[in-house]
Amino acid sequence: MRASRRLSSLVADAARQRLRHRIDSVDGKPLTLGESLDVVRRREAQKEQRRAEAIQEATRSVLPFKERLRQEGVSPLLTDQPITLQINIGKLCNLTCRHCHVESSPSKRRENMHGEVLDRCLELLSRSSSTTTLDITGGAPELNPHFRRLVSGATAMGKQVIDRCNLVVLFEEGMEDLAQFLAEHRVHVVASLPCYTEDNTDKQRGKRVHKDSVEAIRILNRLGYGRDEGLRLDLVYNPGGAFLPPPQAQLEADYRSRLRDEHGIVFDSLLALTNMPIKRFADDLERSGGLSAYMSDLAANFNAATLPGLMCRDTVNVQWDGTIYDCDFNAALNLSSVPRDVWSIGSIDELAGRAITTAKHCYGCTAGSGSSCGGTLV
Ligand code: SF4
Ligand code: SF4
Repeated sequence: MRASRRLSSLVADAARQRLRHRIDSVDGKPLTLGESLDVVRRREAQKEQRRAEAIQEATRSVLPFKERLRQEGVSPLLTDQPITLQINIGKLCNLTCRHCHVESSPSKRRENMHGEVLDRCLELLSRSSSTTTLDITGGAPELNPHFRRLVSGATAMGKQVIDRCNLVVLFEEGMEDLAQFLAEHRVHVVASLPCYTEDNTDKQRGKRVHKDSVEAIRILNRLGYGRDEGLRLDLVYNPGGAFLPPPQAQLEADYRSRLRDEHGIVFDSLLALTNMPIKRFADDLERSGGLSAYMSDLAANFNAATLPGLMCRDTVNVQWDGTIYDCDFNAALNLSSVPRDVWSIGSIDELAGRAITTAKHCYGCTAGSGSSCGGTLV
């Protein structure tokens, strides 16, 4: 196995970067570290505000999503019985991908779920018989020190567990037995691999990521992933730019033959996802002047047949701090849901029938064949 990637050195780099950007004074008045952090937070909030205004400006000609739903006779969009609890366990990640909708990175150490929030999630899960699946995402979820406790707790209740894994996390320090742990708990691994070519993957995710991902899949295959029943390994594709994914079935066939012939690795299914026009990806588009065209393209490809399968209809999303959202995208945009957090409900099952908060980014889920955490919808 190759040497550990050492998240600790990436974290140290990120801390050095932060220090370089630390604000020591404002208008000549020296600041304490706490005051300095407040200034940084305020500036980040201003950045969010500017970003929201830019998106609003770029999407002025796009019909509001709510209006589109009204035309289809499905407004408000309501949740069905939840079958999946998706937990975003934290934003800490060993990678810094260009399309990341939660802006994860090695510097996001604070936004990590604490043990008591996690215990509350397990408690809610134990009271929710309809919620049969726990879907753990991040960041790199495995880097949260409570990750394994969450997995063991949920599997002990008989829930199916999904780990949204970036693959290269297997080579981090302390993760030497991670693959074995996942296999022992029959965890369904959903792993990002945005392309079967090294060039395209590394452009989105960083240098060496493709090679390390292939090596990680070899390890998983040796344990039975992608081969044995109950050890499911799905790969995730997302476009390398501002365009809709090609048909999932054709792409899956291409992935299967290229990965088998060139690397001798196998997987179960390929999930093709659309890039959501938010956060880093929206910033990239805005800088290149392509945001407006991409939004118009998504809206022009609206497909009403995707509405019954939207993931927000049967999934409840909980963030690292215990707040509840309709989905991870709404969480990234801070579009809140009611009820607000894991302490204001008695079970996940009781969240059926509530109105989903939507906005123009939702066109990313309804364009063409649709897009969800489980791939295309129609
Ligand atoms: S691996 Fe996933 S969470 Fe981490 S930066 Fe990339 S897209 Fe974001
Ligand atoms: S972004 Fe997608 S999953 Fe989230 S609320 Fe909108 S349609 Fe639903």
